[in-house]
Amino acid sequence: MGIITVNKMKKIAVLSGKGGSGKTFVSTNLSNVIHSSTYLDCDVEEPNGYIFFENNKLIANNTVYREIPTFDEEKCVGCRKCVDFCKFSALAFIGNKPLLFDEVCHSCGGCELVCEYGAIKNKKVDIGNIEIYEKGDKKIVSGKMKIGEASAVNLISEVLDQARGTTIVDCPPGSACSTMEAIKGAEFCILVTEPTIFSLHNIQMIVELVELFNIPYGFVLNKSDESIDYIIEDYINSIDKPLLAKIPFSKDIATQTANGKLVSDNDPIARDIFVSLADDLERKGILK
Ligand code: SF4
Ligand code: SF4
Repeated sequence: MGIITVNKMKKIAVLSGKGGSGKTFVSTNLSNVIHSSTYLDCDVEEPNGYIFFENNKLIANNTVYREIPTFDEEKCVGCRKCVDFCKFSALAFIGNKPLLFDEVCHSCGGCELVCEYGAIKNKKVDIGNIEIYEKGDKKIVSGKMKIGEASAVNLISEVLDQARGTTIVDCPPGSACSTMEAIKGAEFCILVTEPTIFSLHNIQMIVELVELFNIPYGFVLNKSDESIDYIIEDYINSIDKPLLAKIPFSKDIATQTANGKLVSDNDPIARDIFVSLADDLERKGILK
């Protein structure tokens, strides 16, 4: 077994039902054993994957903006067309004038187009930034959402534009809109879970999501313990999906990870697990 080399663009999304299940652990270590891979951290509220790629070099830091409408009160005649047009309920009509709820504005630009009086102009607002790092043959991209920003969707979309070669997408936890955005264009999803009843409940919601998007998927069982693995394994067998890898519950792995180390660099057994996972994905045609 060795490092996997892949030439074509392939996007693999890594998901979990809740934070702390090992999604970033799996994403970073899998990316680490694939030659010339790109790691995209779309967990933009708490991006920390870049920390694991030690001695990385920051090569770019770009601010990301979205556009929201502003209203010229002198030009606005109160026709209400913009409010009626907005399908996201981001505009209300109060005191005969439109009022914006920018947290729910999807920046579609439609209200500006329908206003016949030139009373709407869009303005840019800063929603976060994208940091791009290099480490050897790896590209590491980290989206960081500005504190107070309500929606991660626009920022995640910009992070996804950085995909190159084999791309591992570290998705936000759960199954909200931001996760739906992060799995767009993925050829395969890896669902990371743990052998507990709580994790079983959460991962079933993720299964519903990836099935809705019709993306093939398989599971990685983190913190595996033979005495309780059946909690997840019985479920995986019942839906006839592949269990791609089991990562043992290990103090050494937990300690290295807590110290910001990639176990695929530092622990031969863990490295074998991730190389086997990449080999398996290649055999299944996902990395070809
Ligand atoms: S469409 Fe233009 S003129 Fe009509 S309410 Fe909206 S901003 Fe005012
Ligand atoms: S830009 Fe789109 S989503 Fe935002 S207020 Fe206008 S119509 Fe609604």
